[in-house]
Amino acid sequence: MRVRRNFVSNDFYRKGREENRVCLPWRFFVPFTVKQKNMLMSDKISHWIRPQIRALSAYHVPPSADLIKLDAMENPYHWPETMVEEWLAVLRGVSLNRYPDPSPARLKTSLGKAMGVPAGQSVLLGNGSDELIQMIALALAQPGRVILTPEPGFVMYKMIATMTGMDYVGVPLAADFSLDLEAMLAAIEQCQPAVVFLAYPNNPTGNLFDRLAINAVIKASPGLVVVDEAYHAFADDSFMDELGKHDNLLVMRTVSKMGLAGLRLGLLAGPDEWLTEFDKTRLPYNINVLTQVSAEFALTHRAVLDQQTRQICTDREKLMTDLQALDGIMAFPSRANFILFRVPQAAAVFAALKEQGVLIKNMGAEQGPLAQCLRVTVGTAEENGAFLRALVSAIK
Ligand SMILES: *Cc1c(COP(=O)(O)O)cnc(C)c1O
Repeated sequence: MRVRRNFVSNDFYRKGREENRVCLPWRFFVPFTVKQKNMLMSDKISHWIRPQIRALSAYHVPPSADLIKLDAMENPYHWPETMVEEWLAVLRGVSLNRYPDPSPARLKTSLGKAMGVPAGQSVLLGNGSDELIQMIALALAQPGRVILTPEPGFVMYKMIATMTGMDYVGVPLAADFSLDLEAMLAAIEQCQPAVVFLAYPNNPTGNLFDRLAINAVIKASPGLVVVDEAYHAFADDSFMDELGKHDNLLVMRTVSKMGLAGLRLGLLAGPDEWLTEFDKTRLPYNINVLTQVSAEFALTHRAVLDQQTRQICTDREKLMTDLQALDGIMAFPSRANFILFRVPQAAAVFAALKEQGVLIKNMGAEQGPLAQCLRVTVGTAEENGAFLRALVSAIK
């Protein structure tokens, strides 16, 4: 077959040179293509899949069947039976044959209200807040552009930076897990990040960073600052009210940790000008119809979710007291629905817990700030009791 000279446009070469891609004149493509065809599949994979992606590991979710599941910051409660019946009646009316509302205005309004988004600020919905992080990165990504975040922090910031071809800069937290403001400001000055992500409270450490320090980061940042309030329901503190005071601040929330993790629904709040741009990277119909109607339904029963949240906060305090009473355990203060703790021989303790039917999270660090650390999600009173009993026997 003859390959036409203009099969690949000159523009392609020009752009490629600008982006430092290797660009061969068109005639080199032909033998190259023939060579590809004779390659082993493994060679094709290593040739075509970007090295950054090959170096990644897919997000791992361990099997949890028959275990008490305290590893993923889920709310352990379901709904009263009458509420479930009412919800099922709503689902019966859903048209699964139709595409969902592409930009569900009513859900945006009710979720925005439920999350306390200030008047004049806009809302963008994501298939979980993970998708919102990805939309932001897709809109900002360019070779050399930086995502900056304190470490230890939420793993998805780094994964999404890698996936979207952005550079990632992690700035170590201070020894007590507070924001090292001096280090943050120096890194911001040096890297000029396109976006800074601050989880408030932070995952996996559970603490809130100092408000003044965050404000200083917002002021010093040339690009965006996203305050990720995934654990807002348990934190009793927020930057939502700061929206409108800074033109580079966005606040992110999710319904996942409020008891609706299965829905996959996150919210980004901030100036309409930014959100209009991010909206262009959103795949059509990203919020499915079952999520739309279920979230609206759940919000009309907000009191049930709030009561569960309050229960989790009460149980967190009890769990913290019980953990601190154990010899050899160092539990870190938490404003979220999980507790990070350090224990000698973390890997062995984790395995012994699992052996006794309790799954928590092993942070998997031999050294550094998370050395010998495990993270437990606050469950029901019974689950927390079972965890503590298993832990006592594991550290004996
Ligand atoms: C759990 C978590 C999220 C992800 O939330 P989804 O809405 O379930 O995608 C985002 N940020 C932080 C800090 C989290 O811990």
